[in-house]
Amino acid sequence: MAYATINPYNNEVVKEYPYATEQELQAALATGHALYKKNRKQPVAERAAILHNVAAKLREHSAELARACTIDMGKLLRESEGEVELVAIIADWFADHGEEILTPEKVKTIATGSAEIRHSATGIVMMVEPWNFPYYQIMRVFAPNFIVGNPMILKHAANTPTSAKMFADIVAEAGAPEGSLTNLFLSYDQVTEAIEDPRVQGVALTGSERGGTAVAEAAGKNLKKNTMELGGMDPFIVLGDANMDDVIDIAWRARLYNAGQVCTSSKRFIVMDNVYDQFVEGLKEKFSKVVPGDPLDPKTSLAPMNREKAKNKLQKQVDDAVAAGATVVYGNEPIDLPGQFFMPTILTDIDKNNPAYSEEMFGPVAAVYKVHSEEEAIELANDNPYGLGGIVFAGDADHGAEVAAQIETGMVFVNNFMVTLPELPFGGVKLSGYGREMSHIGEMAFVNEQLIVKTDKPNLDNVAGGLVATDPA
Ligand code: NAP
Repeated sequence: MAYATINPYNNEVVKEYPYATEQELQAALATGHALYKKNRKQPVAERAAILHNVAAKLREHSAELARACTIDMGKLLRESEGEVELVAIIADWFADHGEEILTPEKVKTIATGSAEIRHSATGIVMMVEPWNFPYYQIMRVFAPNFIVGNPMILKHAANTPTSAKMFADIVAEAGAPEGSLTNLFLSYDQVTEAIEDPRVQGVALTGSERGGTAVAEAAGKNLKKNTMELGGMDPFIVLGDANMDDVIDIAWRARLYNAGQVCTSSKRFIVMDNVYDQFVEGLKEKFSKVVPGDPLDPKTSLAPMNREKAKNKLQKQVDDAVAAGATVVYGNEPIDLPGQFFMPTILTDIDKNNPAYSEEMFGPVAAVYKVHSEEEAIELANDNPYGLGGIVFAGDADHGAEVAAQIETGMVFVNNFMVTLPELPFGGVKLSGYGREMSHIGEMAFVNEQLIVKTDKPNLDNVAGGLVATDPA
């Protein structure tokens, strides 16, 4: 059974789901395509009203949704509750601003008449999403594309099927027409089959390089536009004049939030020599205070990882790092609980040849580097295959922003925790992928930017370069 909810706190198999059938996939494609045709004639405001209903339904069912998310993938219940509220905020934002973003753009031109670019739907979007934020990852694609009028087929991660089903049920309950979001428990081959279908016109994936490469290959082979939101090894740079109380207060959260399983978790702490010892001591102290336990219990502050496979992979990465010369400053000891717990761990002395230097560790493991100048910090931050996000702590925020501008990533936050909100574009460069989700940029990911030039009368004297059939001699 490929799709299953297995509670990572106690390993209980809660529910299994069979793969979608060929008929279900074909029905989703047919329903989605028919809806796309209908949406092209529907005023955007009608979809905006439905999207507000989606937000209201999410809030109404917040408690059940949060619980299901925690049981699916293990995050702390309060983090699941926060995620449900965030997805409602995203839905409301696109309902309020989505239509304005689609306003036709006038183009100044020397062509005869007037020109404008209209933004319209293109067809079904196939979305492939990961388990780490089971609702948020769906909403990042769903809200903008629902406003645009693109129907969606969702293939969620194999370990978060209950959250996927509940999200799709909420969308239906809010009054979205059938086909707006069809959740299917697809195999990898069925995802490829969907991408090959001419009714599918866009592909959005969030996940690892492994998943991204496979899905982008299928999209490229079939000339389908795609966005890839992949992994990251975000740097957290601490300059010598940073406020160290703020630094420590944010640093441990930036690594342990969601049990360290966030694409934009701070995975590499790059710290100036004059504050290095203070930083390591502070991080150790914070890491030592977290309490592992049932993520449904409000007293718990360290959640289990999402599944056994992930924990085993992280343990192997830490073992390999240590074998290659890294020092364990804190952690890397077993936690005596049956669930998939990993003790927060701090590694130092990672040199360029260590696999940990350039491999993403998707769990509560912090790599800390000492640097002796700002230039060295920036060079180290950029000496990495990924380019997703980052944090800079500096005594002066303007100076921090200058440093941020030299970091080769898609998003950098100065003197604060990284936030994600609907108005802020989300995405990266290098192996972290391409394209942006959310914001006005994300809404344009799968639209037809259609040029329309109109005039009351043709003017053959005004055709640039005379590129027109001439009269017969
Ligand atoms: P993953 O293995 O790539 O899985 C993500 C999704 O892709 C899942 O639905 C998975 O399905 C599917 N998938 C994988 N291989 C596929 C294939 N060959 N064909 C079709 N679908 C395929 O990613 P993960 O390791 O679970 O997720 C963690 C990764 O995601 C990390 O690297 C993290 O940094 C990244 N991430 C990035 C962002 C961002 O916005 N940039 C956000 C969150 C996470 P199955 O579950 O069935 O395998």
